[in-house]
Amino acid sequence: MSGRRPKPQSRRPSSSAGSGKQRGGGSSLAGLPVAPGQRAVCEIVGLTHEGEGVGRIEGYTLFVCGALPGERVHVEVMSVGKSFGRARMTELLSPSADRVAAPCPIYEACGGCQLQHLDYAAQLKWKRQLVVDNLARIGKLPVAGESSADEKMEGHPAVVVHPTVGMSEPWRYRNKAQVPIGSMEGGLVGGFYEHGSHNIVEMDACLIQQDANDETVRAVKDAARALGISAYNRVTGRGLLRHVVVRHAEVTGQRMVVLVTNGRDIPHTQELVGLIRESVPGVTSICQNINTSATPVVFGDETMVLCGEEVIYDEIGDIRFAISPRSFFQVNPEQTKRLYSAAVDYAGLTGEETVIDAYCGIGTISLFLARHAGRVYGVEIVPEAIEDARRNALLNGIHNVEFAVGAAEVVMPQWQKDGISPDVIVVDPPRKGCDAALIATMLELRPPRIVYVSCNPSTLARDLRLLEDGGYRTVEVQPVDMFPHTGHVECVARIQRTEV
Ligand code: SAH
Repeated sequence: MSGRRPKPQSRRPSSSAGSGKQRGGGSSLAGLPVAPGQRAVCEIVGLTHEGEGVGRIEGYTLFVCGALPGERVHVEVMSVGKSFGRARMTELLSPSADRVAAPCPIYEACGGCQLQHLDYAAQLKWKRQLVVDNLARIGKLPVAGESSADEKMEGHPAVVVHPTVGMSEPWRYRNKAQVPIGSMEGGLVGGFYEHGSHNIVEMDACLIQQDANDETVRAVKDAARALGISAYNRVTGRGLLRHVVVRHAEVTGQRMVVLVTNGRDIPHTQELVGLIRESVPGVTSICQNINTSATPVVFGDETMVLCGEEVIYDEIGDIRFAISPRSFFQVNPEQTKRLYSAAVDYAGLTGEETVIDAYCGIGTISLFLARHAGRVYGVEIVPEAIEDARRNALLNGIHNVEFAVGAAEVVMPQWQKDGISPDVIVVDPPRKGCDAALIATMLELRPPRIVYVSCNPSTLARDLRLLEDGGYRTVEVQPVDMFPHTGHVECVARIQRTEV
């Protein structure tokens, strides 16, 4: 048998197991078919977006880490709540045909990715299904080919959800690593958190990172150890180095290192910079970001250049981009091209149109659209990203774009007052989806077409329902696998105004 094996210590139940909703016992939970500590056989019927198996015992839901749909597993119940509980797999009774051996040696412990034990073709199918289920359940949309969909919404043509566009070689794809630093037995460690905890799993190599990033992270950790630089401790709030963030520009080969520190002074700064430069070929930017807050947010507000430039340059297709430490830049360059092509295709441009690109980051989608549009307006909340966006427009000789700093939900109504009337609005919000005020403004601006790029199918579905109720129709959705072996799903939706 191969793949993820049940292991007593592997992947502890997620932290929500300890929340108020979950109990280790108690009279209010009497009557449930299972109790903490109980051992039982469980059928796995689904997979959560965090890659946990969804098990059922007499209709009661148990989340079982490491289990796959179609499997029968022996479990020990860890905690129960009113509507669901968590259990630990103790034995795999009948493995799924889609179960494979995870190639990463620290996969069991590390919470960085969730689906290495699921065959890649099955991951792609599952990601599409997750989109379909969200559109149907939250968006109340009929999806083509799904049973029971058609009669649900008479008069609404079924939404086509295409097969997920996958990678031919789904490893070593990430161009950015954001590695938490901590200490273990007094020594500095760096790696991703254990599933559901803040314990760092020391990491030498990460199979979804580009090799260059592994190399850079190792070099920075070695240099910090050699110079006795202290690691941040989240509990006490003491210690200096919080995160090492590295980027690799695949096309230009340039590399960036950002040291996120809990304070301004780094002992032996020049030696540290020297050691990093010596051991990391192609490093053109070493920066420091100061974050003294007690929150889990990675970056603080202040960034300084320690050596080299404040940006690195990379290219997607034939467009060149300057990227600052805190700016968002898609992490999977190969799939980004496919994602953006779908977005440009769905925008249906002829060269004349006015387009708004909300949540534009460093202007990536805006610049691709500008090649095919009359004028593009981009808005983004991070000021450095807009500086990058303006620089990127100049760098590529693209003049029919204009960028504004601010919350899209605040800037768009201003543009509306200024009389900007878009033919197409593209949105690409973070996981929480579009602000309700932004949706309201889109419905007032009433462009013929909306393109929604989403990294979270549940908020996508919620927002599509609002747009549908406001006179729009979702035509098709293209999932693109930007994050192989993780539970993340990215997709692009083509949305059309129904009334003229
Ligand atoms: N379209 C870009 C960026 C997408 S990521 C690309 O493909 O590269 C989402 C972006 O939305 C991030 O850059 C984030 O900083 C920005 N953002 C988050 N909340 C925002 C808001 N309320 N208004 C505008 N931008 C926002």
